[in-house]
Amino acid sequence: MDPQSRTRHIRRGNPLASRRLSEWTAAVEPGNLPLGQVRWRDRSGVLSYRYTPVMDTDAIVIGAGAAGLAAARSLAGRSLRVIVLEACDRVGGRVWSRPMARSGVPAELGAEFIHGPGKETMASLRDAGMAAIDTGGESWTCCKDGNLRREDDDFKFAAGIFDGARSLADDESVDRFLRRFEGDEAMRETTAAARAFVEGFDAADPTIASARAIADEWRSGVDSTSARPLGAYRLMFDHLRDACTASGVVMSLSTPVRRISWHRGAVEVDAKNGREESLTIRARAAIVTLPVGVLRHSGDESEVVFDPDLPAAKREALRSIEMGHAVKVVLCFRTAFWERVRDGRTATARFSAAKGDRSQCIGRSIQSVAS
Ligand SMILES: Cc1cc2nc3c(=O)[nH]c(=O)nc-3n(C[C@H](O)[C@H](O)[C@H](O)COP(=O)(O)OP(=O)(O)OC[C@H]3O[C@@H](n4cnc5c(N)ncnc54)[C@H](O)[C@@H]3O)c2cc1C
Repeated sequence: MDPQSRTRHIRRGNPLASRRLSEWTAAVEPGNLPLGQVRWRDRSGVLSYRYTPVMDTDAIVIGAGAAGLAAARSLAGRSLRVIVLEACDRVGGRVWSRPMARSGVPAELGAEFIHGPGKETMASLRDAGMAAIDTGGESWTCCKDGNLRREDDDFKFAAGIFDGARSLADDESVDRFLRRFEGDEAMRETTAAARAFVEGFDAADPTIASARAIADEWRSGVDSTSARPLGAYRLMFDHLRDACTASGVVMSLSTPVRRISWHRGAVEVDAKNGREESLTIRARAAIVTLPVGVLRHSGDESEVVFDPDLPAAKREALRSIEMGHAVKVVLCFRTAFWERVRDGRTATARFSAAKGDRSQCIGRSIQSVAS
């Protein structure tokens, strides 16, 4: 369909617009019907199901990660009818707390820490009746012989090296910036640590990451402290999801969006529901919380098509943002062996894996070592 006829199509209005939202809501209760399937009772009281491929609402939120759920809750709080379309069969997106058979604490397969003050995250935690635990403390390396060695705060030193990048006349890659220091013997270790933090902590490729952006990020203090949600991130997301549904938000999981046709004041979103049935949802506006990787992706059936395409400035911004590839490996130990180091003085310690030239140690940082 060409953009013009699509626009006319949007303006014509929806013959089903008078249908009450409660019917859609009823259709997508947990364990109930996928979006578009409506339970229907005829005049003689016989219950049947009808597939309705076109629906109306006030606002559509695409994606049920942190951003999507927060947006949906906020819109519903302003008495708007909201439908959330989420491709996965769960909410949370890149936050995924997975219950572990042998442990009372779920494993965080995605986000785990709250970096810096994290005002919005802290507010959401409080709202869910949760707390955050600070992960700060001293770092110690437990060497093969069982002795503990105090670790310097590598991050503070490594961050300092980027101070000069903020006054560069022209921005340059991290790789190019760090090469300035590599000839200096005194700086060699700090330079290597800075490179490792960019690759490991920021999951960024030093040959294309902006030195200025890293300098600004590290300088902002957002990475200087970190905390963990007590229990698991999942509890916060469960609360957010329940708050959404309690305020009337229709949450449609397993519903990947394929096309977003839009013009000012009207949007039409094509998606597939859990039964692979095509459906179109019309609204006054849509909030798109798709990850950069999805927005940049093109060329196969999982592409999300914008019709007309996104404005040039947004495309240009997307071209300039690169997503790093990260693989998170979660190890589950039978016993917390690090708690027994030094006759239990490390009982409250947190264990982090060894890395690179520290592989001779069984634990890179043992934090909050008991005195
Ligand atoms: C391994 C890992 C560790 C991380 N650790 C941390 C950490 O410790 N601290 C921290 O602050 N951040 C961390 N992050 C980053 C953090 O998880 C993200 O910044 C945050 O979760 C992004 O939320 P979001 O709502 O913007 O996007 P997402 O959570 O990605 O939500 C987008 C949603 O859109 C859905 N979607 C995709 N395509 C479609 C489609 N076609 N139709 C409908 N829906 C679609 C996705 O399924 C997803 O649910 C980590 C990320 C990863 C991957």
